[in-house]
Amino acid sequence: MQKEQIKLEIPQEVKNISRVLSDAGFENFLVGGCVRDLLLNKIPKDWDIATRATPEEVTKLFPKTFYENDYGTVGVVNENIEDGSLKVIEVTPYRTESEYSDKRHPDKVEWATSIQEDLARRDFTINALAYNTETEELIDLFDGKLDLEKKTIRTVGEPGKRFSEDALRIFRALRLSSELGFAIEHETQEAIVKNKELLNNISRERVRDEFVKIIMSENPLSALDMARRLEILKFISPELEKGIGIEQNQAHAYTVWEHLLRSLDHAAKKNFPLHVRLAALLHDIAKPHTRAIGKNNDWTFYGHEVVGAKVAKKILEDLKFPKQIIDQVTKLVRWHMFFSDTEKITLSAVRRLVRNVGTELVWDLMNTRAADRIGTGRPKETPYRLRKYHSMIEEAMRDPVSVKQLKVDGGEIMKITGEKPGPQIGLILEILLSEVLDDPKKNTEEYLNSRVLELHALDQKELTKLGKVAKSKNQSEEEKEINKIREDYHVS
Ligand code: ATP
Ligand code: MG
Repeated sequence: MQKEQIKLEIPQEVKNISRVLSDAGFENFLVGGCVRDLLLNKIPKDWDIATRATPEEVTKLFPKTFYENDYGTVGVVNENIEDGSLKVIEVTPYRTESEYSDKRHPDKVEWATSIQEDLARRDFTINALAYNTETEELIDLFDGKLDLEKKTIRTVGEPGKRFSEDALRIFRALRLSSELGFAIEHETQEAIVKNKELLNNISRERVRDEFVKIIMSENPLSALDMARRLEILKFISPELEKGIGIEQNQAHAYTVWEHLLRSLDHAAKKNFPLHVRLAALLHDIAKPHTRAIGKNNDWTFYGHEVVGAKVAKKILEDLKFPKQIIDQVTKLVRWHMFFSDTEKITLSAVRRLVRNVGTELVWDLMNTRAADRIGTGRPKETPYRLRKYHSMIEEAMRDPVSVKQLKVDGGEIMKITGEKPGPQIGLILEILLSEVLDDPKKNTEEYLNSRVLELHALDQKELTKLGKVAKSKNQSEEEKEINKIREDYHVS
């Protein structure tokens, strides 16, 4: 066997574990993603060692370990270490996997007697390499090194069989291709299309994890477009498929699907965080739902941001995303249509936008909008207009934009009016906020206290009406005006 030249230094912590195992008589190798990355001259995210020892034998050899899973993996803990990738190094006994009768989990995990057997159960040739840190030998039974050179993803063994054992491998192929910029080999692609329905058996969490890795990679555009070609987009969400081939109005050169991909592509190039990338991908998700013919015989998409927020929520809930991400993305989708013509916009409209999306998300909303704009193929907003809009946001953020920032609160209103807690208090706050959004100078105790008394003197019906008007103005009145302007100017 030949020695393999590896340029990167293998960390001492990894070598130590390997040495302790060998000294105790247990053959061991680096395996999987870390060998692949080393050969690509990339620093591995984590280090995996495969060994002939049993989990019990491994546990005995190291001072601090944990072992609580079905796969025999022992986490060897390195204490007092800065580098996160070295804190826990996983040591796993050689394994084979026998049957997958539920297409999900191997029926039982069986120990293998050789590294050769262990490599044969791995998914792709580039992931089925083993490296001996002491002898510096590479074990490459499936031409993984050649595939690394050819930038190719190919299953170990017959692809149809491997995908029917575990269909998640389909998304793993796509994810690796996206992260590494590799092509998926032809037969492997064909087997993906043939076996795609098996993805119904895979848990949504596992699909989500691969989807997130695709979205967070450098080039999610090609991966998602490949998902379309391989007919597996619907297993991420059937909603994504609906935009394919949907033509837009004259202002757009691209179909809805192409536009969403291009928006995501910009968000990835800018290294925006996950929630902004998801918002870029989903902001127009409801255009196919809302498309109608408008007065000048061109397509309109009224309300697509409102429906879109709901559709986005449904998609992300189905994929079991955490609540925080779902909230962020739905807000960004809901408010992405804000009107930004600095010649015509008023500061009170900007304040209402900040109130609606929230101060924490307002800059993410700007980034979503930038992704949207670049995704239409139109050049960036002129720097002058963008600067002006940004300074308006900064100004609006200095003003109160939420009930919490008013100079009176519910408790004080109850004191002044002698009212008990109840809906009146909320109505009064909403009316006060509306006035302050129009004119921040009104946010003084003196003014607000006197308004509280005036409002309290109104009869219930009157107060309810004013409260409702204020609420709808705070949330959407401005939007109606804006939609009108937009219609007049044919912007979308
Ligand atoms: P990353 O760099 O993202 O960690 P990875 O290839 O190391 O990528 P892991 O999920 O950490 O991915 O898996 C480690 C190794 O285990 C893989 O390289 C592969 O050899 C094997 N493996 C993981 N998942 C599967 C699977 N579903 N089927 C077969 N082998 C798998
Ligand atoms: Mg890994």
